[in-house]
Amino acid sequence: MDIPDEWKKAGRIAGEARVFGASLIKEGRTFLEVSGEIEEFIFKKGGKLGFPVQISVNGLAAHYTPFPEDSSVFKRGDIVKLDLGVHINGYIGDTAVTVEVASKEKTDLIKASKEALDAALKLAKPGIKVGEIGAAVARVIESYNLKPIRNLSGHGVSRFTLHDAPSIPNYNNKDPLVLKEGQVLAIEPFATEGVGLVKEGKGSGNYRLAFPEKQVRDANARKVLDYIREEFYTLPFAKRYLVKKFELSKVTIALVMLERAGLIYEYAQLPEKTNGLTSQHEHTVIVGEKSEIITRVDE
Ligand code: MN
Ligand code: MN
Repeated sequence: MDIPDEWKKAGRIAGEARVFGASLIKEGRTFLEVSGEIEEFIFKKGGKLGFPVQISVNGLAAHYTPFPEDSSVFKRGDIVKLDLGVHINGYIGDTAVTVEVASKEKTDLIKASKEALDAALKLAKPGIKVGEIGAAVARVIESYNLKPIRNLSGHGVSRFTLHDAPSIPNYNNKDPLVLKEGQVLAIEPFATEGVGLVKEGKGSGNYRLAFPEKQVRDANARKVLDYIREEFYTLPFAKRYLVKKFELSKVTIALVMLERAGLIYEYAQLPEKTNGLTSQHEHTVIVGEKSEIITRVDE
């Protein structure tokens, strides 16, 4: 399969946005400021958001995007997972990095997921079993006396679908499925000081359209739904993006109505089960004899 150039471009912009975004994470800055600047950077480069900028801190492993009136501030010692996606014409680059704010107490935790990702990427060639990739991820993380998060995994990426088959495990799940030439994968090891599992937490303010063709009767909800379909289609979006276009109270009512009607889905926050500190690194790769890491720009 031929990979369109716009996919590689989306990957490169995502990589540049990750490097830029990591440089903004400083003690005292707000999550809203940082996510807003990253989004602006992506738009200026000619990309669109593959999903909302995710800023998940400490024991929260994934799925936190700032709420419309979010007051969160980066604090010294925070372990920040910055996870972002860029798409062009539906082709998505998905990438993440972990940053410790203003201190260097948790260098090993951060190295563990980074080196696990490097090991996984080296193996990501046609013919390898996904279980073997998981085994390599777990081996690196366990060598730091940490645990991989077993119920989070990497994934295939396809046009307008962020999470597609195959699932790329972060431990040896014995899955004999083999990678194929030309597959686009997002590989994302998580390392934790906890037990190695996430649970579902509160609502995250991240949503996705479940049935892009369905309509709703209520006029307010319909306007919001039409906008979601037009702007994001089947890709995840954040409540705060809708507030740029509609009043907050109207957005809140519309989202509740659309969710009750089953037309949209809200992702849950994913805290580690014991709230153990967690790190994550992620790249998007095109599988080949010489795999191409499309979100890698800084190494
Ligand atoms: Mn990601
Ligand atoms: Mn991903």
